[in-house]
Amino acid sequence: MRFDIVTIFPGMFDSVLQETILKRAREKGIVEFHLHDIREHTHDKHRSVDDTPYGGGAGMVMIAGPLCEAVEAVTRTGNSRRVFLTPQGEPFTQKIAREFAELDQLILTCGRYEGIDERARKIIAEQEISIGDYVLSGGEIAAMSVIDAVTRLIPGVLGNAQSISEESFEAGLLEYPQYTRPEEFRGERVPPVLLTGNHAEIARWRRAQALMRTMKRRPDIFEKLELSLDDRELISDFSQPDNTRG
Ligand code: SAM
Repeated sequence: MRFDIVTIFPGMFDSVLQETILKRAREKGIVEFHLHDIREHTHDKHRSVDDTPYGGGAGMVMIAGPLCEAVEAVTRTGNSRRVFLTPQGEPFTQKIAREFAELDQLILTCGRYEGIDERARKIIAEQEISIGDYVLSGGEIAAMSVIDAVTRLIPGVLGNAQSISEESFEAGLLEYPQYTRPEEFRGERVPPVLLTGNHAEIARWRRAQALMRTMKRRPDIFEKLELSLDDRELISDFSQPDNTRG
């Protein structure tokens, strides 16, 4: 898969793309990253990418011309999508990350200042994505989040595919709590069931924890779940105050 990032700050991506999973995915030839500097598409001696807003008001607005030309200069390959990062976009979810991971190319455009000239929107974006209900100074960090979430879903990137299938949001649930050595930390012991080696019991415990954790922390997700009879029994069983299995 190929990521094309259109930005006025290509240097911001240097360390992120050259460390850990993204670096390894690139080295394995699974992903390619291509950075495109919007300033290369300016036509004045100051290489301006922004101007004052019509109608007045605070801040600057990104000029449509260089932005559109920069996006249009990216050669499209295979199943490709132009995405603009904006707080006004569709909320980014694991489901969208999965859809993006099926593409051959994602062209991510990062806004800056007070945003972009409205007329550029339909040219640079077939989809608009927000990474959350808050306002960042620019789309670069949002693009990095999308790149990271998508890359780790591409087959071959992570060593253990099972680690993805059990992660938060994958089965519509938050993940169960995890523990590692030591068995006791500051007076708190690892739940005994995890030390038994009984895989069926461990799986039951984990499923119950994931269900109860989702119910408590994300009722909005929980209420959309279609619970099986087993799930209902697990919740009722593990919610008993005298249940010491966990
Ligand atoms: N004035 C704009 C508004 O109220 O919608 C916000 C502009 S913001 C300061 C500058 C740029 O940061 C945006 O054009 C967008 O590219 C990016 N950005 C900010 N918050 C974001 C978010 N939550 N998700 C994705 N991109 C975001």
